[in-house]
Amino acid sequence: MTDLRSLTEAELKTAAADLGQPAYRGAQLFEWLHKKKIRDLDEALNLPHAFKDALRQHYSLSTLQLHTLQLSKDGTRKYLFLLPDGQAVESVFMPYDYGHTVCVSSQVGCRMGCRFCASTLNGLSRNLLPGEMLEQVYRIEEETGERVDHLVVMGMGEPLDNLENLIRFIRLISDPKGKNLSQRNITVSTCGLVPQIARLAEEKLGITLALSLHAPNDELRRTMMPIANRYTIAETLAACDAYFKKTGRRMSYEYSLVRGSNDSEEMALALAKLLKGRNCHVNLIPVNPVTERGFEASFDAAVLRFQKTLEKNGINATIRKKMGADIDGACGQLRRRLLQ
Ligand code: SAH
Repeated sequence: MTDLRSLTEAELKTAAADLGQPAYRGAQLFEWLHKKKIRDLDEALNLPHAFKDALRQHYSLSTLQLHTLQLSKDGTRKYLFLLPDGQAVESVFMPYDYGHTVCVSSQVGCRMGCRFCASTLNGLSRNLLPGEMLEQVYRIEEETGERVDHLVVMGMGEPLDNLENLIRFIRLISDPKGKNLSQRNITVSTCGLVPQIARLAEEKLGITLALSLHAPNDELRRTMMPIANRYTIAETLAACDAYFKKTGRRMSYEYSLVRGSNDSEEMALALAKLLKGRNCHVNLIPVNPVTERGFEASFDAAVLRFQKTLEKNGINATIRKKMGADIDGACGQLRRRLLQ
């Protein structure tokens, strides 16, 4: 059955008409689902019972149930949500000076196999629906009582491996008649699915695209990320350049620093050379520990040196503030949890 929370206002109007209702009932339903964020159709007070009964017969409604909440010393909150089919997904709330950010998961598990990441340890279970991505934000706003105004799609999963649902999610969450979150405040991170980057560019969204690069040459990147066997760095950067050209949105490059591997002065120079002349931004993240993985984070001095070398060579670089590491809520630490 189609999920009501994954439908646009126009589609809900058509759905209402198909069930013999005036179209404006569909617009009312959209508001209940995305402004008032109802969990159940019973809560939609101004809709006729007959309409709600008919909707229940023909559609499902995605709703997430809070299973566990972990609080970090730094204010980060990690949520484990239950999905309607008993699967579970993790999301993270981060209070920053400039506003509240939620890290959204796009899949249950992941099939990309990056060596340093916990989300991919048990493979992919399934894609998340647009409504299930929205629900992560809605339930976190409900639980914290705070307004979330920034999103990073950097939780579990590879967002571009679930591209159509991702695009729908972005359009729904930025809908002025719904939550109305600015696309400028959304960052989507990808390990580098080249054809999907081109497909996403066609949508001309106002979001920021971040590419997980992590190495300045193919040889090293292949030891970290299986996707590097499918697409070379040259092909991937060409797709990113085309993305920038088409959307006017500056690219971000993610670079997780692994002690004694990709964090040397030589690597920093190679990265600066690779990105030279590009209007872009590099995010440096000392790799977070994942017990099964055994990668070690770079020493602080190496991280600072890496950043300085990039800056000296004309590449903007910031060191990502580490949030929620004490509750396994930092980058790469979210994992598929089996609860049955
Ligand atoms: N699949 C997407 C988004 C998922 S994770 C992607 O690959 O980009 C968001 C970022 O965290 C990515 O840059 C990813 O490479 C990085 N990451 C994964 N595991 C990590 C770890 N253990 N430490 C630091 N960063 C990690």
